[in-house]
Amino acid sequence: MNAGAVIDLFRETGVLIEGHFKLTSGRHSPMFLQCSQVMQHPRQAARLAGALAETLAPLGADAVIGPAMGGIILAYEVGRVLGVRAIFAERQDGTMTLRRGFRIEPGERFVVVEDAVSTGGSVREVMNVVTERGGEVVGVGMLVDRSGGKTDFGVPAHSLLSLTVPSYAPPECPLCREGVPLTLPKSGSG
Ligand SMILES: [Zn+2]
Repeated sequence: MNAGAVIDLFRETGVLIEGHFKLTSGRHSPMFLQCSQVMQHPRQAARLAGALAETLAPLGADAVIGPAMGGIILAYEVGRVLGVRAIFAERQDGTMTLRRGFRIEPGERFVVVEDAVSTGGSVREVMNVVTERGGEVVGVGMLVDRSGGKTDFGVPAHSLLSLTVPSYAPPECPLCREGVPLTLPKSGSG
C-alpha cells in the first residue's frame, strides 16, 4: 500500500478528519487522527496490518508485541500474517509491563508495533519490557509515524504513513483567525 492509498483508507474510515481541533496539549490543529476508527473494520484493519507485516517480514521476528490499547489488534493481525504469536504490554500503576501470563523467552526476537506514534514513548517502553526479560527487539512497525520520521528507535522502523501534523498555539492559529469553529475531539490519543 502506498501512502496515498493509506490516506484514502484513513479518510474513508474516519481515522483522519480535517477541521479545527483542540488537542489534549491545548494546541490547535487542522487534522485529527483516531486509528481505532479503522481497526473497528476487520477487513480494512487486515489490509493495513498485512501491508505493515510485509515490510516487517524480512526481520525474521519470532513474535509481535504492541502496547495496549492501540497496539493490541495491530499486533494480533501482524502476528497472524507473519505466522508468529502476538502479545501486548499494558500499564500497571503507570508502568508498562506484561500481565495475563504473557512471557518473553530469552533470545526471543520481537517486532514492536503501534498504531500511531508521536514521540515514540510507548514504543520505547515496550522495547524495554522485551529487553528487560532477555528478549531482542529487531524492528518497529507503525501505521502512522506522526513525527514525520524523526523518531529513532535504534532498530529498523517502518511506517505505512509518515505524517507531520501541524499544530499551533491558540494565539497563532490561522483557523481561529479565519473564524473556523473549534472542535474538541471526543477521546483519547490520536
Ligand atoms: Zn485555532
